[in-house]
Amino acid sequence: MNKNSSNIMALVPNTSNKRETVCIFGTGDFGRALGHKLIQAGYPVVFGSRSTQISSLIPKDAEVLSHAEAAQKAAIIIIAIQRQHYNFLTSLAEVLRGKVLVDISNNLKINQYPDSNAEYLAQLVPGTKVVKAFNTVSAWALQSGTLDASRQVFVCGDDIEAKQMVMDIVRALGLTPLDQGSLLAAQEIENYPLQLFPMWKFPILLSLGLTAFFFFYCLIRDVIYPYVYENKDVSFFIAISIPNQICPVLALILLALVYLPGVLAAIIQLYRGTKYRRFPDWLDKWMLCRKQLGLVALAFASLHVLFTLVIPIRSFVRWRISSQTVSQALNNKTEPLNTTKAWLSDSYLALGILGFFLFVLLGITSLPSVSNNVNWREFRFVQSKLGYLTLVLCTAHTLVYGGKWFLSPSSYRWYLPHSYMLSLIIPCIVLVVKFVLIFPCLDKPLTRIRQGWERNPQYSE
Ligand code: NAP
Repeated sequence: MNKNSSNIMALVPNTSNKRETVCIFGTGDFGRALGHKLIQAGYPVVFGSRSTQISSLIPKDAEVLSHAEAAQKAAIIIIAIQRQHYNFLTSLAEVLRGKVLVDISNNLKINQYPDSNAEYLAQLVPGTKVVKAFNTVSAWALQSGTLDASRQVFVCGDDIEAKQMVMDIVRALGLTPLDQGSLLAAQEIENYPLQLFPMWKFPILLSLGLTAFFFFYCLIRDVIYPYVYENKDVSFFIAISIPNQICPVLALILLALVYLPGVLAAIIQLYRGTKYRRFPDWLDKWMLCRKQLGLVALAFASLHVLFTLVIPIRSFVRWRISSQTVSQALNNKTEPLNTTKAWLSDSYLALGILGFFLFVLLGITSLPSVSNNVNWREFRFVQSKLGYLTLVLCTAHTLVYGGKWFLSPSSYRWYLPHSYMLSLIIPCIVLVVKFVLIFPCLDKPLTRIRQGWERNPQYSE
């Protein structure tokens, strides 16, 4: 009975523990927002400011003192001041000795200074323990409580105890500290808030470039060519027909580009006979944004589905069907059902539906909330095995759609092949090379290399 009750007691947080005073230098936007949050979490807060006059903006339970007086009251001092104003801290070196200084500053440009702000602070006030934290959280998010997107606080510092103290404060504020190691990591942490969708840049620029290319390609082939040679105005193709060609073409190419770097990496490893040499930078970067490439591909595939669903209600399509019916009635002749054509059309649709289903499954499993709940083997199974199956189905969907028609001379307008033919080049290369890599004579050495075996050990660094 006693044992049980002591266990229960151990699970109940000790709320009677008085929190240590936290000092904040600077009563600007961030200092005030953080002060407010700290007071809510039960920390006594004292501000160090150039002006000790209490303003209505400052949290009501906080004290405002001169920098020196405020620093004496706390073991942790959060420097909520821009880097360019740090100089005055040298005059406080004696008061600050042995204290934990939390650098929360950001810059205006990536790698603006040769050293990080936190390292600069550490060398400006020697004898202090500098910890980098909070720079990826905005004052607005702290104040409004909308911290869902930025609950993670990257923390780094050379003094483990000091880092621990700061991480305790981070946790007490309801945030999640992520230990990034020593103060050397500060430069990278300071660059985080300046990066604009770093992993999305390449996939988005690539898809914009490909969209522009295929738009003009289809425009020339499907709108300008009929106008020049047949005097037909089909400019309305720009609204649905051309986008419905571009979307599947891009979905297939981008999906293949998700798997191409893996195939290239395998060839490089086989050639080098080791996995211990770095891949070229471009390949490393390409591999890092495969998830984003896949999600952009999924977006194009979804658009293709939507564009395809509206085909029956298009005026042009309804006109074509009714004119075919009328011409059959006028000629008093019905066309017999072409079962080969029906087979091809149904297979093409079935392959598309299955391919899209797996595509969506891949997209869902790449979501952090799902991928966090599967182990590494399950994740690899879905992303690699099901991913290749998706690529096979989508490639087959395009091949069956084109069929013999791709090879007919009439499909080459101005010697330009149909865009679907172009879209098949990269997926077919990826699938053929992947198929070759499955052969035991290549698969076995590759598996050994990936397990650490080296053909020429002198290559390892
Ligand atoms: P701010 O509103 O401009 O406030 C900076 C404060 O620094 C001023 O209120 C002032 O406080 C003090 N100060 C200004 N000039 C000074 C000088 N010459 N000597 C000593 N102190 C001086 O800036 P903030 O937005 O609060 O940002 C503060 C720090 O937090 C910056 O390093 C910023 O990069 C970082 N940060 C801000 C955000 C954000 O959302 N705002 C997010 C992450 C990180 P007193 O008048 O009380 O002396």
